[in-house]
Amino acid sequence: MDVILLGAPGAGKGTQAQYLEQHTGLVHVASGDLFRAALRQGTELGMLAKAYMDRGELVPDELVIKMIIERISKADCAQGVIFDGFPRTREQALALEHELAQHGRKIDYVLYLRVPDDVLLRRIAGRQTCKTCGYIYNIYYFPSKRPDVCDHCGGKLYQRSDDTLETARHRLQVYFAQTRPLIEYYNGHGNLREIDGRREISLVTEAMTAALGLHGSDTEK
Ligand code: AMP
Repeated sequence: MDVILLGAPGAGKGTQAQYLEQHTGLVHVASGDLFRAALRQGTELGMLAKAYMDRGELVPDELVIKMIIERISKADCAQGVIFDGFPRTREQALALEHELAQHGRKIDYVLYLRVPDDVLLRRIAGRQTCKTCGYIYNIYYFPSKRPDVCDHCGGKLYQRSDDTLETARHRLQVYFAQTRPLIEYYNGHGNLREIDGRREISLVTEAMTAALGLHGSDTEK
C-alpha cells in the first residue's frame, strides 16, 4: 500500500506518519527529513537544498524527484510507503505516479489533513524535533516530559531553523500557491480522504487508520 499525507506545514503530517509507521509497517519517507539528513552529512544535495529551505522555498522538482526515487527504490520500501511532504507540486505528483507504475504500484490513498490556517502558525512555532531520533513534539500541544529532552531516546530537542515565524509564513504562502492545488488533483482521481486535523493527535491517528481501512469507521469522506 502506498499512501500520501497531504497538508500544510504544521498540519501534523510528520507526527501522524510516525504513528502510522508503527501501526502499518509501511516505511515513512519524508522529503524534508531526507534533505536535513543530507545537510548534516554535508553532501552536495544537502548544500543545494539548504539555500531553498532557509528561505522557505521549494527545492527544484528534479532534485526532489531524483532523491525520492532513489529512496523508494531501496528494499525496505517494497511493501509500501507513507509519503510525507512529497509530492508538493503537480510535476512531482506525475513523476511519482510514473515511477510507481513502473513497478506495478499506484497511490492507494491520499490522506489530506485539514487544519485551519490560524492554527498552523502556532503549531509550526511550537514544534520541536529530536536531534537524535527525529521524534516530533510541540511545546503547546504535545510537550516532552522533560523540557528539551526526547522521551524516547534522551536526545536533545531543537527548533528547526525554518520554523521561525517569518519563514513559516512564507512556507504557508508557498503551500497555498504550489501544493494546495494537489487536493483538487487527487480529488479528481477519487482516492483523496479528508481528515479533520484539528483534533487531538490520537483521534487524528484513529481517523487516518480508519480511512486506510485498517480499523474503525471514523473517516470523514
Ligand atoms: P518539510 O520538512 O516537509 O517541512 O520540508 C522542509 C523544506 O524542505 C521545505 O520548506 C522545502 O524547502 C524542502 N522540501 C521538502 N520537501 C519538498 C518537496 N517535495 N519539494 C520541494 N521542496 C521540498
